[in-house]
Amino acid sequence: MKRRDFFKYFSTAAVLSALPSLSKAKKPEFNWKMVTTWPKNFPGLGTGAQFLADKIQELSGGRIKVTVYGAGELVPAFEIFDAVSNGVAELGHGSAYYWKGKNDTFQFFSTVPFGMTSSEMNAWLYKGGGMEFWKKAYSPFNLIPMAAGNSGVQMGGWFNKEINSLEDLKGLKMRIPGLGGEVLKRAGGTPVNLPGGELFTALKTGTIDATEWVGPYNDLAFGLHKAAKYYYYPGWHEPGTTIECFMNANKFSELPEDLQKIVIGAAKIANMDMLCEFISRNNDALEILKNKHKVDIRQYPDEVLKELYNISKIVVKELSLKDDFAMQVYESYSSFQKKTTNWNEISIKPYLNILE
Ligand code: CA
Repeated sequence: MKRRDFFKYFSTAAVLSALPSLSKAKKPEFNWKMVTTWPKNFPGLGTGAQFLADKIQELSGGRIKVTVYGAGELVPAFEIFDAVSNGVAELGHGSAYYWKGKNDTFQFFSTVPFGMTSSEMNAWLYKGGGMEFWKKAYSPFNLIPMAAGNSGVQMGGWFNKEINSLEDLKGLKMRIPGLGGEVLKRAGGTPVNLPGGELFTALKTGTIDATEWVGPYNDLAFGLHKAAKYYYYPGWHEPGTTIECFMNANKFSELPEDLQKIVIGAAKIANMDMLCEFISRNNDALEILKNKHKVDIRQYPDEVLKELYNISKIVVKELSLKDDFAMQVYESYSSFQKKTTNWNEISIKPYLNILE
């Protein structure tokens, strides 16, 4: 190699190695949009959507670029299901119970009152046949679902009065989505659903009497403690809510096989990451609510929980009678929960009971 050629070669190599990476510099082969039901970058949920978008981009070496839109930026929060179904966006980030108007059975893929916790829910989805049912449920809408996060056990909600008996729920207008809302209705309350971003104003102005949202980490971010006095636990209605990312099936089929695997793998990573974020941040937020904002944190009386449990069993059973598919999902879900409950009896339950 002549000296001049050597320098020419060396300088080209130097320029190449100075680039962050060749793949990152490449133009994306796929420019995707993700629409969400959450405010952009809202703690845990919005950041979870962004995490998944970034992870897809990173693992694909920049071949897929995903732009995230918060609720209302491209489409309103509760219209993302149709938007992705119709190909307005490639990805949607929400939770399956928001779409119960399409099919009541979807609620099993979010959460069920007194149903499974986050780890049990993941086990059912990935190892117990749950994912196959979910795919079947969304397929008529040209959508492919993926589990993309979990809130863990939620809180029971914000109230401006004490809840001492089931009587206290009568006439209560409360934001509570999914099957939990149906249970409240049977208990004499009026459930409503509103996107998270509207909760504070609705509660503050008295449009609703009470609300649940997620847990301390999220509820503190919305300032719900400035609109209600009592914060009740546990979130009997949402013991481990799966957050979803669904894809337009046509857009997904356009991806080469390696990118399809990357998208599905990224969702599994995001699923774990979100739960870790909630677990690690909830207690810090709880301390702030308790010590700084002097929130009155109460446990639902056992009797109230027991009665809600009994109503829940009826509501979920009734849902199963809707059609054959609902019955199949119900049987799969409830038999899986029965097994995990048996195992919990001699594993996590006695273990947690001994801790102080
Ligand atoms: Ca909730």
